[in-house]
Amino acid sequence: MTSYIEKLIRKYVLLNAIKHDGKPSVKAVIGKVIAENPELKRSIKEVLNKVEEICNVISKLSIEEQEEMLRREFPEALIEKRVREEEKRLPPLPNADKYEEIRTRFAPNPDSVLHLGSARAIILSHDYARMYDGKFILRFEDTDPRLKKANLIFYDYIREDLKWLNCKWDEEYIQSDRLELYYKVARELIERGGGYVCTCSRDKFRKLIASSKPCPCRSLSIGMHLDRWEKMLNGTYDEEDAVLRVKTDLHHPNPAVRDWPAMRIIDPEKHPHPRKGKKYRVWPLYNMAAAIDDYYMRITHIIRGQEHFVNTIRQKYLYKHMGWKYPETIHYGRLMIEGGVLSKSKIEQGIREGIYKGYDDPRLATLRALRRRGIQPEAIRALVYSVGIKPSDAVISWDNLLAYNRQIIDHKSNRYFAVFEYVPLTITNLKQDRIKVELDRHPQDRSRPKRVFELNIVDGNLTLLVEKEDITKFQGKLVRLIGLMNIKNLHAEGESAFAEFDSFELEKAKKLKAPLIHWLPKEGNVDIEVVISDPDKPISGKAEKSLVDEPIGAIVQFERKFFARVDGKRGERIVLYYTSK
Ligand SMILES: [Zn+2]
Repeated sequence: MTSYIEKLIRKYVLLNAIKHDGKPSVKAVIGKVIAENPELKRSIKEVLNKVEEICNVISKLSIEEQEEMLRREFPEALIEKRVREEEKRLPPLPNADKYEEIRTRFAPNPDSVLHLGSARAIILSHDYARMYDGKFILRFEDTDPRLKKANLIFYDYIREDLKWLNCKWDEEYIQSDRLELYYKVARELIERGGGYVCTCSRDKFRKLIASSKPCPCRSLSIGMHLDRWEKMLNGTYDEEDAVLRVKTDLHHPNPAVRDWPAMRIIDPEKHPHPRKGKKYRVWPLYNMAAAIDDYYMRITHIIRGQEHFVNTIRQKYLYKHMGWKYPETIHYGRLMIEGGVLSKSKIEQGIREGIYKGYDDPRLATLRALRRRGIQPEAIRALVYSVGIKPSDAVISWDNLLAYNRQIIDHKSNRYFAVFEYVPLTITNLKQDRIKVELDRHPQDRSRPKRVFELNIVDGNLTLLVEKEDITKFQGKLVRLIGLMNIKNLHAEGESAFAEFDSFELEKAKKLKAPLIHWLPKEGNVDIEVVISDPDKPISGKAEKSLVDEPIGAIVQFERKFFARVDGKRGERIVLYYTSK
């Protein structure tokens, strides 16, 4: 049995024990372990033995001890647990008991990438669906080939982001596949007297509607409007010549609601659709397509941003004309991050101008950028839950997000030494020829493979690499080289540093409260580059050779420095992205 499986078992035993007054249930733990690793079914007997063994040990501890153990060994499980508890505290959906199946949706326009602001809609819609054993639907809203033109890469980027957030969808639809349905509804809307084709100029219409007056088209016969609708479809009308409008109360206090536009002509020669080419010339506007889809997809609850409040009012007119029942709506405020670039247009402009080096540039708050720099999806979920579903806007700080993230990565991350602005440090007065040191990859988990250093001593002298600033800071002091030895009389001479060997015992360093500094052997290290902000301007340094064991995607902590995510290789160099302090 691998240590990974053993740890997984330990985690679930502890979680289960704490839930049940300190007495873990073997059966419940097996269920959890198998659910996470279905292939373990093949070695079920071995798993069972192990679970029983660990349950026996853990059940002898007090709950306080169990909690302490969980906190120490699996801090991320505590966060998951807290999130699950908060999930239970999400307010119930309105009228949930009236529906046989709760159906929610996330409906992005694939004209750009998703950012942190989208996370709220995704996570709440998904988690509510799961909370009620319902269905979560992903719908691409790509019906504007002129102004908000979709780009094929974004359909996949969005799917990737949702998977990364652990928000798997049960059904997927793409609006550009559904034009015939929108045409059918448009026709029926005209037949029911709820819609009309307006051929007035934009200015003329605006002036009339501003004073609550109908345009001359509004009172024409249904037959004439059906005829005009045909002309929209068959190319008799050009762009701007005609638009299908939905009849509303002309005295609605908000002029933007009055007789809103539902379908318009977009010249397919000038604006071909990335998926449909020149096949269609009449496209639904946002409110028309979204409203029809919510009805046909049997969405029961729309969880949407406050900025859609007016759209909800508009769409309800269409539902009334069609005799449909509008879904329940929950409006929440915007989620903004201090100093984070969240607007699509700014992201797109910055990329066009070359300021940002891609959609995952670490200066952006896109989900791709957060992922690349090592932010964990659980941290984003914890953040969304902490803000909840209030209608007011919420401003969160990077510090909040990074603090949640640190709680999760701290336990996962192996520790390494790295230096950036370094100098050679020669330590004199050693008696040995060689020193072999084995250091833990994590202070709370000694089961991980050790980092091994073999240091050669020549004529009583050992040369290491240390950070230049540590020499300046601790000049003349007794200093502890982490995991290695205590040195004294530390001082600089030009671009080198010197010190004398003092002792090996950690106790002495503790007693004297000696500062701890990290170090590297003089040779055999790996070169690293860390992207802090601009991907074209990484900082370079050296790290211990054990770092090469880390796979791409792993988060590591450079001791006394920062957390970073292993991103890849450039030649012999390991490239990392800075995560946080
Ligand atoms: Zn008109």
